[in-house]
Amino acid sequence: MPELRQNVATKEWVIIATEGARRPEEFVQPDKERVEDRPEHVATCPFCPGNEELDLERLRIPAQGDWIVRVVGNRYPALRAEGERSRRFEGMNPSIAGVGYHEVVVESRRHNTSPATEQPEEVERTFHAFQARGRAFRDDARIEQIVYFKNHGVTAGASLVHPHAQMLGLPVVPYSIRARMEEARRYFDDRGECVICRLRQDEEQEGTRVVLASEHFDAFVPFAALSPFHLWIVPRSHRASFLDASPEELRDLAQVLRDLLRRIFVGLNDPDYNYVIRSAPDREADSKYLHWYVAVVPRVTRSAGFEMGTGMFINTALPEESANFLRTLAST
Ligand SMILES: [Zn+2]
Ligand SMILES: [Zn+2]
Repeated sequence: MPELRQNVATKEWVIIATEGARRPEEFVQPDKERVEDRPEHVATCPFCPGNEELDLERLRIPAQGDWIVRVVGNRYPALRAEGERSRRFEGMNPSIAGVGYHEVVVESRRHNTSPATEQPEEVERTFHAFQARGRAFRDDARIEQIVYFKNHGVTAGASLVHPHAQMLGLPVVPYSIRARMEEARRYFDDRGECVICRLRQDEEQEGTRVVLASEHFDAFVPFAALSPFHLWIVPRSHRASFLDASPEELRDLAQVLRDLLRRIFVGLNDPDYNYVIRSAPDREADSKYLHWYVAVVPRVTRSAGFEMGTGMFINTALPEESANFLRTLAST
């Protein structure tokens, strides 16, 4: 029998295709041009050293000498920093001026790398850059929600090859985030505990879906994983906002994320992927029921009409087999 599973934190249902589920090896990507086979420096790339668009620069780490990571404003931003956040109505339809922030973290000086092949220090400094700019966004009263993510590869939405991540400061809390907050609050009201703390502890005890555990994090394929090799990296200590993660946690997270992405890179032949840092709205930073974490989604299958029509996914791999596959891969 196929099985429907529900994620207790998000309330999302997924169909796990237990019959005819594909073996993990069947998701290995066909050979394609690898990132590391491209040139290390490209004269026309706006993110390569020597081509820095200084008018767009918001931060460089370190501030002096050769930078390791940089943050730049998006050349074609989805939102702009100038303006008032005022709500208008056209008939019954609300709208707000597109105020906010849309910035890019250039993760490396090298054109031909990605977090899987970067130095751990580069991944760690990407998180430092997220935090430094995130704190600046937070101090802007017009900003309600910050989202941090990376698109790796064309099918994951990346339009430039040079390794980069993105962050946006939004003037609203998006509906799907609001819905998760409501579920987390309800769970806390019913049970008196944070649902993500509990989920992490349960996964740790159960063990079959855990891929790796570090000092500060557990990485596991969720019980109701929406797609093959879908991963959550959950901090052990309860904090609602990523901006409150400690420097030690960021260092550990960089190791954990890089380790997982290396396993995916090696084991599945560099599939496209997205990662997202899910963090509470900043006015909820002290919440006892919201808990930040990182989700990683390799793009080894395509979603289509069914997902669009239902918001529900069909996972053609067993979460336990996905976890076992990643667990047994050496990351080196
Ligand atoms: Zn470049
Ligand atoms: Zn928690």
